Amino acid sequence: MGTKEKILCVLYDDPVTGLPKKYARNSIPKLDKYPDGQSMPSPNSIDFTPGELLGSISGELGLRKYIENSGHELIVTSDKDAKDSVFDQHLPDATIVISQPFWPAYLTAERIAKAPNLKLAITAGIGSDHVDLQSAIENNITVCEVTYCNSISVAEHAVMQILSLVRDYIPQYKWVTSGGWNIADAVSRSYDIEGMDVGVLAAGRIGLAVLKRMKPFDVKLHYSDRHRLPESVETDLNLTYHENVESLVENCDVVSIHCPLHPETEHLFNEELISKMRRGSYIVNTARGKICDKDAITKALESGQLAGYAGDVWFPQPPPNDHIWRTAPNHALTPHTSGTSLSAQARYASGVREILECWFSGKSIRDEYLIVQGGSLAGTGAHSYSAGNTTKGSDEASEFKSSN
Ligand code: NDP
Repeated sequence: MGTKEKILCVLYDDPVTGLPKKYARNSIPKLDKYPDGQSMPSPNSIDFTPGELLGSISGELGLRKYIENSGHELIVTSDKDAKDSVFDQHLPDATIVISQPFWPAYLTAERIAKAPNLKLAITAGIGSDHVDLQSAIENNITVCEVTYCNSISVAEHAVMQILSLVRDYIPQYKWVTSGGWNIADAVSRSYDIEGMDVGVLAAGRIGLAVLKRMKPFDVKLHYSDRHRLPESVETDLNLTYHENVESLVENCDVVSIHCPLHPETEHLFNEELISKMRRGSYIVNTARGKICDKDAITKALESGQLAGYAGDVWFPQPPPNDHIWRTAPNHALTPHTSGTSLSAQARYASGVREILECWFSGKSIRDEYLIVQGGSLAGTGAHSYSAGNTTKGSDEASEFKSSN
């Protein structure tokens, strides 16, 4: 057998209400392939039942039996931000780190410098911006993610939030749960989306899925991306292409953000860009919190330049308890849940297992899963990311105090 690996896996906490004794549904649908034909994660076997809670610490991504039977060590913790966290204590001799974007273990340059044995950083999900990619490149660390595993999960969430904002669903629900029935209050900010201009920034796996799902609402669809979609897709969806983000936002009522966070997109939605939007626009951001300037978003919600903001990504994660978005008006944010439905968990847990099986047996990891390899951007990373670092400021996550 090869070298003994020490695998450090950072997952979010178990439910404060206790682990589910019974699930809401008996099973999840079995999918054969992703919409573009990419094959589903294909490990040799799995040790969990799809549909179980795998992403919190007790679930261990269903990996313990396999890792220990293979002669390796697995450490699972949610303690990642406090000074001298369990993550920091184990990092110096860890060879593999697994982390989910929902509860990211920020692998900053300082942490990478303290992890001389680290060879592989696996994102159990999509989006490896919590890793200082520049530093991973310089230290020959392989970075990979489970491409496509939760793209459709996020697209569904984005559509839900677009409709929730425009129809103003959340305040209406609150009227019901508070025992009230004041229809005039409930509808005073509620519109139909039919006929509106709806655009996505980035028409990759998620962005394109959002466009397809919005088409039946009879809206006018727009997009901007670094690479243009095939003409047949543009014609099918009746898309208007915009060469830059300025043109996109000037011509839309709703903008949904779907590009990765990398140095080009960090704080892209700042005061200047938001001021170019139509008054009363809506932004949905399920991509990464840092693509938006948090103060600019809040100011625009307060002034009415934005009629609403939703999404579920923050920076850092968890955000400090007094993060300005928590109390901003007219928002419909969730705590980074879009890509970690029970359905998505089954796919990314299988994908992580597939990656580990490859790594342990010396086989190459699928190109589509690779972000960094051999000292440069690789695979999906070479197509969708630019080198650099976007982890600056992540230490603020230590300011979050769980109230439970
Ligand atoms: P894809 O790689 O399929 O799509 C990303 C798209 O972004 C590509 O089309 C890429 O263009 C485009 N892009 C990159 N930079 C820019 C830019 N500066 N301006 C315009 N477009 C740009 O990834 P997915 O659609 O699967 O995921 C997108 C992002 O969503 C992830 O990186 C992640 O941050 C986030 N995500 C969030 C999740 C959640 O739980 N909320 C879960 C999964 C993903 P091109 O390739 O043409 O250069």
